[in-house]
Amino acid sequence: KGVIHRICSGQVILDLSAAVKELVENSLDAGATSIEISLKKYGVESIKVADNGCGISPSNFQNLACKHHTSKIEDFHDLQSLTTFGFRGEALSSLCALGNLTVETRTKNEPIGTHLEFDHSGLVTSERKTAREIGTTVMVEKLFSTLPVRCNEFSRNARREYGKFTSLLNAYALMARGVRLVCTNTTGKSKSVVLKTPGSSSIKDNIITVFGTSTFACLEPLSLCISESCKVEGFLSKPGYGSGRNIGDRQFFYVNGRPVDMPKVTKLINELYKSSNSRQHPIAIMNFILPTKAYDVNVTPDKRKIFFSDESSLMLSLKEAMEGVYSSNHC
Ligand code: ADP
Ligand code: MG
Repeated sequence: KGVIHRICSGQVILDLSAAVKELVENSLDAGATSIEISLKKYGVESIKVADNGCGISPSNFQNLACKHHTSKIEDFHDLQSLTTFGFRGEALSSLCALGNLTVETRTKNEPIGTHLEFDHSGLVTSERKTAREIGTTVMVEKLFSTLPVRCNEFSRNARREYGKFTSLLNAYALMARGVRLVCTNTTGKSKSVVLKTPGSSSIKDNIITVFGTSTFACLEPLSLCISESCKVEGFLSKPGYGSGRNIGDRQFFYVNGRPVDMPKVTKLINELYKSSNSRQHPIAIMNFILPTKAYDVNVTPDKRKIFFSDESSLMLSLKEAMEGVYSSNHC
């Protein structure tokens, strides 16, 4: 059973980015307004995510890292009206199977925090009181140490993994309104700040933090009604301005604030941009706002892939609306 769990966990948590993504989403689900990510040696040594969210109540301690333990979903119907990032109860159990997990947490009902340690099967091996503000700190040390090949690959490619990770971090930083997000990396004795958002409630401020004022200056706000129930809001670079860098570098897509991959939309905007005589790729931050029943994120374990219930007509309306934008008849 242990072996199967380890293999399956390796499929939920594929790399550094996936691990951090799960932890940050848990903090957001907990209502945190401040999230601090601390990496040691680009995450190879340890990954720590500390938040000021609601904390974990003692009744959840024993099962916290058991497979499919979640406090976020009661029955199947909830899946259709889900607003939390998590619901599968796989992240903590997977992280346990892949590395050494410790949790420190305190809810508003507890006078003092609790420090918990887990073994690779998800069982609590140590529990003691500790001083802690309300919130939760999750730390994973030696990620992938239980999968030797993956572990070697992880430390060998640490820097490349880290590049992918910063892009993911940016995706959350751009959309996290009212959340202070800080990320640091410590290698040896030197500690560097990777990212620090002010916790502003406007996406504009987040864009300036992540990309700088000069990039912000070449963007225009985007606000489209592409159907009765679907709106698209965000920012798009003006024709002629863009990113000469890799296509995906500065394109971020979201559904109701959840970062997702949208290869078809990527293709569409790149083509439209090209036909407006630009050699570059557009910078895009696009949040699709639509009813939760109109899509399904439970397609892949990382929930990056998304199924729309009426994709072809959605894409068609989007194309029409975007053509309007590019022909400079902005709405
Ligand atoms: P899921 O997010 O799908 O519910 P996880 O394995 O990510 O599953 O987390 C398991 C449970 O642990 C969550 O349902 C939640 O109750 C609790 N939890 C995890 N991280 C936090 C956090 N940072 N703050 C509060 N509760 C948390
Ligand atoms: Mg989760």
